[in-house]
Amino acid sequence: MLKLYNTLSHQTEEFKPINPPHVGIYSCGPTVYDYQHIGHIRRYVGDDILIRVLKFNKFDIKHVMNITDVGHLTSDADTGEDKMEKGAKKFGKSVWDLAKMFENQFKDSCRELNVELPKDLMHATDYIKEQIELIKILEEKKFTYKTKDGIYFDTSKFKDYFKLSGQNPKELKAGARVEVVEGKRNVSDFALWKFSPQNEKRQMEWESPWGVGFPGWHIECSAMSMKALGENFDIHTGGIDHINIHHTNEIAQSEAATGKSFVNYWVHHNFLTVDGQKMSKSLGNTYTVGDVIKKGFDPLALRYLYLQTHYRQEMNFTWEALEAAQTALNRLRKEVASFDEPKIGCAEYEKEFLEAVNDDLNMPKALSVVWEVLASSYPKTAKAETLFKFDEILGLNLKDSRQILESQKKEIPKEVKKLLEEREVLRKAKKYEEADKIRNKIIEMGFKVEDR
Ligand code: AMP
Ligand code: ZN
Repeated sequence: MLKLYNTLSHQTEEFKPINPPHVGIYSCGPTVYDYQHIGHIRRYVGDDILIRVLKFNKFDIKHVMNITDVGHLTSDADTGEDKMEKGAKKFGKSVWDLAKMFENQFKDSCRELNVELPKDLMHATDYIKEQIELIKILEEKKFTYKTKDGIYFDTSKFKDYFKLSGQNPKELKAGARVEVVEGKRNVSDFALWKFSPQNEKRQMEWESPWGVGFPGWHIECSAMSMKALGENFDIHTGGIDHINIHHTNEIAQSEAATGKSFVNYWVHHNFLTVDGQKMSKSLGNTYTVGDVIKKGFDPLALRYLYLQTHYRQEMNFTWEALEAAQTALNRLRKEVASFDEPKIGCAEYEKEFLEAVNDDLNMPKALSVVWEVLASSYPKTAKAETLFKFDEILGLNLKDSRQILESQKKEIPKEVKKLLEEREVLRKAKKYEEADKIRNKIIEMGFKVEDR
């Protein structure tokens, strides 16, 4: 029996899908305006574990994730600059090229960490029509009003607006930030559609029944999740910072539009910190998966490190901790590399492992079972069977342990180094075809070439 902590009910519950064995799950994806750092990636590894655990329990998963490539303002209060337009200026690119570049960086980081993403990610800009349709329904049902700068959702008309966050509206009013938008009726009201500023040409804007503009950022997740998974679906995930505003608003606008309950289980991941502070671009304390690899770490050591902390606990990142995770992972690989062909597994440990992962994804406990298996008196054949089964969830490529350890030992031969240099010269001269030929030669010699 799988148990999950549900933010909506504020307790750990037995997971019961709407239509077993099918499970619909929606993850709020990245806003692709800058690099995704290892704080962001912790969340996606968390989602990956959740999905693998669901699959392990024989559920049939439909996983949907969006890419926010539009309309996400720097402030939660519907003010400030558009993150995408700001990023475009910073990197000297069009917003469209910016989105492509950082979507690729996101996907690469996930691939390095064995995070299985849905094949087709849903881009907010591809579903503007659906977002407009949803706003039209909310308008017909009289949940909206118009201000000078957009169409807003009137949260006072939606019963139970605070059910997800458990916030007290009175306290919210007292602590409200000053940057209130002119014409907003309640502090918690939020934009569904924003008008383009009259004196400024935005790179991204669309026609709508209310005038040229762009969607508020919450509406995309309601429109896309319901399009892909139906008006009521099983699981929705995100970071804990999404609870008070983004997910609260998703619930309000979705349930106001359909009159149905939107999502049954809300799963929220805690933050990654550095020296006790949130890892974030504004604090300048971020590292990417690329940085981790450049420092000579196996990206899966980072995955191992993530698994050592429960997803609802804050996790503090240090390079020392990553070193220790790398050492542990290598030790694990060394053990596994000495295994024989798998046969019957170690039943009691398999049971213990399943209990741990089914107990609200208790991965630190699950990892400790891994080491118990290794220390046990079972024959290596049985250990192999059991650990390879565990690895369906751990995602540490344990079956490849031998090759991975070998490749760590392998020196890059002089010929290969020379070819790499030649290729670099060709690439700089933009002679990509010739450069690719050299790349293929290097691959034939048993090496992987990756440009970061
Ligand atoms: P940002 O790109 O900073 O707007 O972050 C986008 C989302 O990624 C946030 O809403 C969080 O859910 C998640 N996130 C950002 N920073 C961290 C962090 N340090 N640890 C975990 N998740 C994070
Ligand atoms: Zn979202």
